[in-house]
Amino acid sequence: MEFSFSKEQETMREMLRGFAKNTLKPHYRHWDQTHEFPREYWRKMGELGVLGVALPEKDGGSGSTAVAAGIAAEEISRGDFNIGYGIILGSLVGDILSRGATVMVRQEFLIPMLKGEKLVAIAVTEPEAGSDVRGIRAEASRDCNGHLRLRGEKSGISLVAVADGAVVAAKESGGISLFAVSLQQPGVSRKVFDDMGTRPIGRGSLYFDDIMITEEDRVGLSGQGLRSVLTGFDLSRVLIGLQSIGAALESLEETITYVKEREAFGKTLAEFQGVGFTLAERYADLELLRWYCYRALWLQDQGLPHAAESAICKWRAPRVAVDTIHDCLIMHGQYGYTKDLPLEQRLRDVIGLEIGDGTANIQKLIVAQHLTGIRPG
Ligand SMILES: Cc1cc2nc3c(=O)[nH]c(=O)nc-3n(C[C@H](O)[C@H](O)[C@H](O)COP(=O)(O)OP(=O)(O)OC[C@H]3O[C@@H](n4cnc5c(N)ncnc54)[C@H](O)[C@@H]3O)c2cc1C
Repeated sequence: MEFSFSKEQETMREMLRGFAKNTLKPHYRHWDQTHEFPREYWRKMGELGVLGVALPEKDGGSGSTAVAAGIAAEEISRGDFNIGYGIILGSLVGDILSRGATVMVRQEFLIPMLKGEKLVAIAVTEPEAGSDVRGIRAEASRDCNGHLRLRGEKSGISLVAVADGAVVAAKESGGISLFAVSLQQPGVSRKVFDDMGTRPIGRGSLYFDDIMITEEDRVGLSGQGLRSVLTGFDLSRVLIGLQSIGAALESLEETITYVKEREAFGKTLAEFQGVGFTLAERYADLELLRWYCYRALWLQDQGLPHAAESAICKWRAPRVAVDTIHDCLIMHGQYGYTKDLPLEQRLRDVIGLEIGDGTANIQKLIVAQHLTGIRPG
């Protein structure tokens, strides 16, 4: 058993922590207030090679490990949770494209996406089908001239306002398939939601009005799209865990500094058992989960199955992060409730990832099925 990071991984962590603290964190609130997408910083992430840490170099990735992707997700999210989403999306969409895209799609989307030059969304959810992915209605079929056409509505899609392209799940006669589609073409329209959090990323609906697609746009085999997305989730769900933990650890660190300075009843807050115990409990929860996430990533790097472990990370980590940030906000008293501190924003931002990529209940279904072999109804 080797429970430590390599020297190289420690160096990467240190470099990214400095970048997150000095370059990203000072602007975290700004992007929320303006709802602007932080394009320039996304590009910097591409330059640093963190948008596709674990993806092959031939596809524009950094050729490193899933554990390294986890380090990137945790550290970047300490500075800016929303920019941390770049690592999740790059890893998920990047992995799906790297496994199944044609040469044309690699050139058009995968390589520029990992450089931070293009944004490629993942479009699976629909107004009437989220957890129940098999219930999607968007469809790809051939017209009377034999051309492939795509029609349908996708809903709740991250980066909807700014994405250049999307990997779209659609029904075909043989099951659910994936297509990489440009969003800058006639027949595609968008509607942006007014969300409570992750505002610089933004979410909304995409409409495909019978647009023409080709076999070149196909990602993976016909009818194998759902399997491909679920394989990608095995990594992205753990990274979401570390993204959430990063935001919570930063909140905890800020709170530790605060309670050592702030006084009440003639003592610092840190001297009250009620305060110290809350810090200890949250630290313990986060440390347990953090190492569990790295174990899941280690399993991925060994090529071992880890769908249940990933589900546990996705179910537990955003929840514990939300509880931690909530406690941190309360420990800051009235100041925690202001927009001068990043705590209220982190709370809003992290709650979104309790839902995105599958809710806690859906993760529990996966774990229960892993334990009993029976999928609960
Ligand atoms: C911040 C954010 C980002 C997102 N980004 C994307 C994106 O980029 N691309 C994309 O395709 N989608 C995205 N989504 C959509 C997300 O994946 C879905 O919202 C999610 O899968 C839940 O689906 P739903 O909203 O339809 O809820 P529903 O499926 O209607 O579920 C509603 C509630 O019922 C519960 N429930 C449903 N079925 C069961 C069951 N069998 N047993 C027990 N409980 C159940 C759920 O846990 C949930 O609490 C995003 C969502 C958010 C909030």
